Amino acid sequence: MNGPGQAPEVDALAEIIDGKGRAREMREGLARQIALRTAAGKRAPGLVTILVGEDPPSQIYVARKQRESKEIGMHSESVELPASVSMDEVLDTIDRYNNTPDIDGILLQLPLPEHLSAERGLSAIDPAKDVDGLHPLNQGSLFTGRPGLRPCTPVSCMLLLDSTGIDLRGKHAVVVGSSALVGKPVAMMLLERFATVVLCHVGTADLREEVSRAEVLVVAVGKPKLVKGDWIKPGAVVIDVGINRVDGKLVGDVEFEVAVERASYITPVPGGVGPMTVAMLLQNTYDACVAREL
Ligand code: NAP
Repeated sequence: MNGPGQAPEVDALAEIIDGKGRAREMREGLARQIALRTAAGKRAPGLVTILVGEDPPSQIYVARKQRESKEIGMHSESVELPASVSMDEVLDTIDRYNNTPDIDGILLQLPLPEHLSAERGLSAIDPAKDVDGLHPLNQGSLFTGRPGLRPCTPVSCMLLLDSTGIDLRGKHAVVVGSSALVGKPVAMMLLERFATVVLCHVGTADLREEVSRAEVLVVAVGKPKLVKGDWIKPGAVVIDVGINRVDGKLVGDVEFEVAVERASYITPVPGGVGPMTVAMLLQNTYDACVAREL
């Protein structure tokens, strides 16, 4: 086995970071905590998912969030609104759940149909119930180092990095993709851990050069094989957030087959960041429930 950040031995393949297994452990831990709560006469944490329209990937994601929340003993509600719904109706729905005492987490599934504003929807969620961590207040808390609910995918990236045992302090970390959902918050979280962070985006002049310097690499763009395997610095730890469907199969943004021969640790797609993100949503819902009782 290679230490994180160390060059792999000749012919050694990277260790695959088992996001699926980590997510299962997290769900099992939550199920035990919820069972203890309910045995003590307290209510189970509550999650509502709001799905607008019939985007097939969104339907799959929401079904999974519903299934996994129920499996661990959460109270789970699901709202499905037609694609033709007005912004006011979406805001009314959010407001109703802001004022529902046994709901701790409100998940507005993105993307919304084009005539609706994700920004208005996310901003309408009570920040204390914003289990996706995308309300401007929670984003601001992250950027100013204050406590608050944090976005699930970036936290998952950090947990998967930590699972390798890597000490992030002083590491050269490169994040590819600068969205508010993944790239920017993960860069902030790496910075918090004293990594030296480079954030790459469409304007980056020489992506290959930046990637080749990364001891820690997080890629979140949504373009299959954008990052070529032979760009990877030997021994790097690679987190591939991308989800792309190619010839009916899910692939990430990193050319996995080549990268696995150079990295020390790498996440697979599927089975890496994806399952962890759903588990983190459940963790945030549990944490929101506990925080609302204080
Ligand atoms: P997004 O909002 O489309 O953002 C993509 C980012 O990549 C943008 O900052 C974009 O820059 C940048 N970009 C585009 N082309 C680039 C290039 N050639 N070089 C460098 N940067 C480039 O997407 P997202 O929501 O962050 O998601 C990214 C990927 O992660 C998608 O595949 C998505 O499905 C996946 N994802 C997975 C999970 C999970 O749980 N595993 C969760 C969320 C997202 P501009 O903004 O300047 O165009």
